[in-house]
Amino acid sequence: MKLCIIGTGYVGLVSAACFAEMGNTVTCVDVNPAVVEKLNAGSVHIFEPGLEPMVRHSRADGRLTFTTKLEDGIAQADCAFICVGTPPQPDGSCDLSFVRQVASEIGQYMQKDMVVVDKSTVPVGTADEVRGLIEKELTKRGVNLHVDVVSNPEFLKEGDAISDFMKPDRVVIGTDSEKAATVMRELYAPFARNRDKIIVMGVRSAEMTKYAANCMLATKISFINEIATICERVGADVRDVRTGIGSDSRIGYQFIYPGVGYGGSCFPKDVKALIRTAENAGVRPELLNAVEAVNARQKKHMASRVEEYFAPQGGVAGKTLAMWGLAFKANTDDMREAAAITIINELTSKGMKIRAFDPVAADNARSIFADNKLVEIVEDQYDTCQGAQGLMVVTEWNQFRNPDFARVRSLLTAPLLFDGRNLYSPSSMADHGFAYFCIGRANA
Ligand code: NAD
Repeated sequence: MKLCIIGTGYVGLVSAACFAEMGNTVTCVDVNPAVVEKLNAGSVHIFEPGLEPMVRHSRADGRLTFTTKLEDGIAQADCAFICVGTPPQPDGSCDLSFVRQVASEIGQYMQKDMVVVDKSTVPVGTADEVRGLIEKELTKRGVNLHVDVVSNPEFLKEGDAISDFMKPDRVVIGTDSEKAATVMRELYAPFARNRDKIIVMGVRSAEMTKYAANCMLATKISFINEIATICERVGADVRDVRTGIGSDSRIGYQFIYPGVGYGGSCFPKDVKALIRTAENAGVRPELLNAVEAVNARQKKHMASRVEEYFAPQGGVAGKTLAMWGLAFKANTDDMREAAAITIINELTSKGMKIRAFDPVAADNARSIFADNKLVEIVEDQYDTCQGAQGLMVVTEWNQFRNPDFARVRSLLTAPLLFDGRNLYSPSSMADHGFAYFCIGRANA
């Protein structure tokens, strides 16, 4: 099939690479000329394990091309995927301006009947709006072409995106058109060979499914974080509690790791957007509001523990904290809504210096903290510790799991460790001589 993928970020580029891998001919369109230039030069502008070799290989075989001109990409396409960003507006609702712009451009340039697929996460009703915008442009042009707009939300995880796309748990297709459903089934058949994973439903249900999935996952995280906070106050250990509840198959172990709160480009914005959708529909979203409030509290939790620790020593002002990890989770360079940003802003606003390291998010972090003189991003995890009064682990990168604790101790002015991901065991930290603070456990 001939495909046009519009927006070459985490979702668009991964989708393009995976569709091209299956033999489709894919043209990617992005408005950012720097991104297209880089992709045309054979390198990839985002960090996603395994992506660059796939892109290079399909590009070399002529199945994957990149352009800034939507008219070039759309002309021959059987199917166009909208994969542009849908960031939050100040009131939390979803900003659809990029989606709308793309829809209008598709209407201006499409040359034959086609299926247009909303892969971006968009509120219920957006597919109808996209179809309206395309048809408006077709009417202006006076051409008689047919467009089916399908909702096909994406469930990949950054850091695991290729494998999630290649072996999806399910493929949700929202459409009332048999013809469009057939096209989508054909396109996704190679990704669903071991069992039928394709779930066809109404467009609005598909749009809602994406929000419901992300909000469920965010709810699990806020739930365990709330349990962790209670554990800290009542002398329980959330790690044991997690094992105790996860063993119940109705609950399961997945996604109940306590930590620094959820971040990234999806959960925070999607919870907010569903809250707005609910309110606009006259529903008070009590649970979603609580999920968000608990997460906001959790993002500040580790900063509060640092402040409490240093309060008897005159506070955090003038002290230096080493920090390991800045990305919102391991295996990505994405810093959107990362807990590290909240923690650093909280502590530097009180005069603490932060010396931080991240294996791949350093450049993104440098631009975020360009104006904050109290933040230094260094190139080596141990350099962060030199002369610092303590260390905090914020992201669960593998290289932080089994570090040289003797070296860390020798570099810090005091053996103090704040573990925002519960990577270490309290007893082994005690053996190493650290004052150790983790999530969901009271004592140091
Ligand atoms: P991103 O910010 O990484 O990439 C978006 C790309 O779209 C950018 O390269 C931008 O230049 C481009 N763009 C913007 N306007 C354009 C236009 N008019 N024409 C062509 N290109 C344009 O975004 P992302 O993380 O890939 O997310 C895209 C969508 O997918 C969002 O709705 C997001 O919620 C959803 N989603 C993201 C993930 C994820 O893990 N990142 C997972 C599932 C769903």
